[in-house]
Parts: sequence; C-alpha cells; structure tokens
Amino acid sequence: MRRRGLKRTHVALFVGALSFTTAVGARPGGGQAYRGGSSRSSGSSSHYSPSSGSSRSYGPSGGGGDVDSGLVLELLLLCFRYPPLGLLVVGGVVGFVILNRRRTRGLSDWSVGGMPARVEATTRTTSARRELTRLVESDPGFSLVLFEDFAYALYAELEMKRPGGELQRLAAFLSPPVMELLHDPKLERVDGVVIGAMRYVAVDHGSERTAVTLELEANLSEVRAGVVQRFYVCDRLVLTRARTARSRPPGRKRKLDCPNCGAPLEGMRGTTCGYCRQEVGGGRLDWQVERIERLTTEQRPPDILSDAAESGNQLPTLVAPGAEQRMSQLLARDPASDPAALSARVAFVFNALQFGWSNRDLARIRPFVTDGLFQYFGYWIDVYTTVRARNITENARILNIELADVVADAVYDAVTVRLFAVSVDYTLSDDGKVLSGSRERERHYSEYWTLVRGRGAQGRPRTEPVCPACGAPLDIGMAGNCGYCHARIVSGEFDWVLSRIEQDEAYG
Ligand SMILES: [Zn+2]
Ligand SMILES: [Zn+2]
Repeated sequence: MRRRGLKRTHVALFVGALSFTTAVGARPGGGQAYRGGSSRSSGSSSHYSPSSGSSRSYGPSGGGGDVDSGLVLELLLLCFRYPPLGLLVVGGVVGFVILNRRRTRGLSDWSVGGMPARVEATTRTTSARRELTRLVESDPGFSLVLFEDFAYALYAELEMKRPGGELQRLAAFLSPPVMELLHDPKLERVDGVVIGAMRYVAVDHGSERTAVTLELEANLSEVRAGVVQRFYVCDRLVLTRARTARSRPPGRKRKLDCPNCGAPLEGMRGTTCGYCRQEVGGGRLDWQVERIERLTTEQRPPDILSDAAESGNQLPTLVAPGAEQRMSQLLARDPASDPAALSARVAFVFNALQFGWSNRDLARIRPFVTDGLFQYFGYWIDVYTTVRARNITENARILNIELADVVADAVYDAVTVRLFAVSVDYTLSDDGKVLSGSRERERHYSEYWTLVRGRGAQGRPRTEPVCPACGAPLDIGMAGNCGYCHARIVSGEFDWVLSRIEQDEAYG
C-alpha cells in the first residue's frame, strides 16, 4: 500500500473488536473516481459534538480543526503493501532462505548485516500506549490487547445503539452527557460499523481516575427516513475508570455485560444491574465513555491515489529497553518460539496478507490477524472496492527481520519485530489502468509488526495452512472460527496472530 508523508500524527493500528461487520451496501460516491477526502460533507445530521457533551450540534462539525479526516485516513492508508499471487512463492522462498540462515537460536539471529543498527528506545516508553500499560502496577490483570478489544466493542455498540431507546442498555458504560449527545430520534438504524483505526491521543493517570483519550476512524451506515447513507467519520472518545477498578476476567472481555456480576445488559435499569442490584455506572468498576466528539464526517472515501516517498526506513530500529531479556524469558517458557521460527511465521503471514490485500480477498487475511486488524483491512479493502481499484505490490519479499520488543501481560505474549521489505507498488483500476505508483520501480520499506499469542499457548509457530487447534486444512469463517473444530483461532489462543502494523514514522 501506498504511503504518504506521514508527519502529523502517530498512526497506530489496533488489536481487538468484537465483531467484524462486513461492509456492504450502497455507499456515497460508490464507483466513481474521486479525488481527495478532506472536504467535509454538509447537510448530514450525523454529527455529534462538542466535547462539552451537553449540547448536540448538527451540520458540519468543522471545529475539530486539528484533525483532518482525509489526511488522517490517508495516513492510515500508508500502512500496508501487498503483492499478487504469482509472487507469493518468490516471497516465501526468499523469506525461508533468510530464515534458514538463522537456524541457530539466540537474539543476535534477529539481525543480519547491512541494516540500521539497533538503539535503545527510551523515547518509546513515553508513548501514550506504553503509558497505559502502567495500569498493571495497580491492576495485575490488565492487558492492553484486551483493553483494545473492549474499546472497539464499546465503540461499535454505542454507534449501533444510537437509534431508539437502545442506548439505555449501555448506561453502565456511558456518562449521562454522552447518552444525551448520542441520542438521535430521527435515526432509524446504524450498521456496518467498520473501524479503520484507533489511535491513542493521551493517557492520564490521575489520583482518582485513569483517563484514556482515543481517536477512532470508522465507516458506517446511517438510515434516516428510509434513506441509507454511508459515512467516514473520526470520533474522539475519552474513557475513564476509577483507579480502584480492576480488569474483567479474559473470558468476559469480549462481551459487554454487567461490570460487577457479568449478567446481560438487558437487565440494566439505568446504571443499576437488575441481577446483582449494584450501581455499576460512572466508571467505578469498568471503563466509561465520559466524553465523545465527532471530529469529522465525510461522505466520500479517503483518497488512495496520492503518492509519497518512504520516510523513516533508514532510521535505526527502536528496540525497547529490556526486550532481549524478555525474549529470553519467553523462550524459557516456550523454546519452540525461537527467533527463526517466529520469523518464519512472520514471513508466512506476510505472504498471506500480500495475496489477500492485492486481490481484495479478506478470507485470505482472516486466519492470521486479530479482529481489530481485520477491521482495518475490511475498511480499506472496502474503500478500494468502492473506487474500483486494487493496490498491487508485486514481488514483495522480506529482506530482514529485527526484534524490537517483547511484552507479556496476564493474558498475552506480544512480540514486535521490524521487518524490512521491498516490492513494486502500484494502484490499478478494475479496468486495467495504473492510477498511481510504478509497475517497474521497486520500493524499500520497513514496518513494525506486533504478533500476539495467549499465555497458555506453546509450540512451534505454524507455517502451513492448517488450523492451529485441530490441524485440519484452513477453513476459517469471517468470525475467525475453524470450520471443523469451531475453535476461534484469531484470538491468538493457539498460535501467533498479527495484531498491529505500524510505520516507522508512527512507531516510537
Ligand atoms: Zn450485575
Ligand atoms: Zn480446527
């Protein structure tokens, strides 16, 4: 995928999300060529704002000012590149040749010559996402991966429950001003919510409450007076939670239920649970959306055609302090996940993604990525489908893989590697015209990839297309379950799955 000058913001792609909603149906601008994505739509009543939360404003929100959704979406677009089928094999072979050179176990095997030297990345510890992991100090069950799942799920739910009186069910997770703001009596239905990205804006550990500010890019449909309209929106949310709150058990993280007893939300009366009779709102026991603001609304898909030079791929790899030590600890628990084996898994996933991306074939991508990343792919493949184009990255192959970070929490192990790759990269219209990029010139690039796996899993990372739970040939539905044993394999319970892809400019 094409990258553009990506300077303005930190792009972070995410793990998580409850359900993938297939983006189908009529959308604004569908099919015709378009340019730019930064002008704001007007005449829509889909806007909610402002951050004070006490009044609703209709019409273009404009006031967001600091975030231009077209630009932001363009930034996100930078995030992938994928080659076509025929060259899969080439990539695979090259990948394995490289990997086989590193047969011996040990951290030095992550790096081969000629690439930038690694440096200790103290700056990275200051990033907002990293800051959030400090919650583990007071809440040992806290998992970033699960927090992100939860945020995705809550966002999709609050959008979909805006019509009618449905929002009442989410009262435990929404502040009264947010409930008021989101309520829209003219809205008949919201569906097809696909989250393109979630970014951390700020994390604040106050003495009483922790506050996390997030921005989400999403594509959704609203139905008013029987008319369906598709929107590309950017929303800013502030989630807060009391310092005394504790994380949900992993088994309950993927569904929204009573923060105290786990009973279904149907039993809520206001913010009191009808089962345990506890008052469960206000962020006392679980995260609450305290504020929400719609920064931008677009009716047209983001621009996919402008071109930009790579930036940052000559920078040294940012290695988190202590990463190698944590890698050793991981190896002590699971000797099979050695660098060579993990690199082979990365190459395997890389090739599947290249194929799926270039062919707009989400089914090929599904088995190897978490729900949140799958939404991301769904979002962009939908954009490309809408404008009848494909981004093709022929002959993509990994040149090198370096270890950047290893993080373990109560639920997941996460390994971040920087991969260096090269490919031809161009965007082709469905009628065969090259819309941007070059069919001849190869581009070098690097990206940080984070793979996650449940703490309970062990064994050699797989590099063959089989279900990691039962060994049957891969046959994975869009929800991520094996067609044979029905195990949900995309949550990382059985093998390493990709949860984030970050550009050089965004990582750190
Ligand atoms: Zn309850
Ligand atoms: Zn299976």
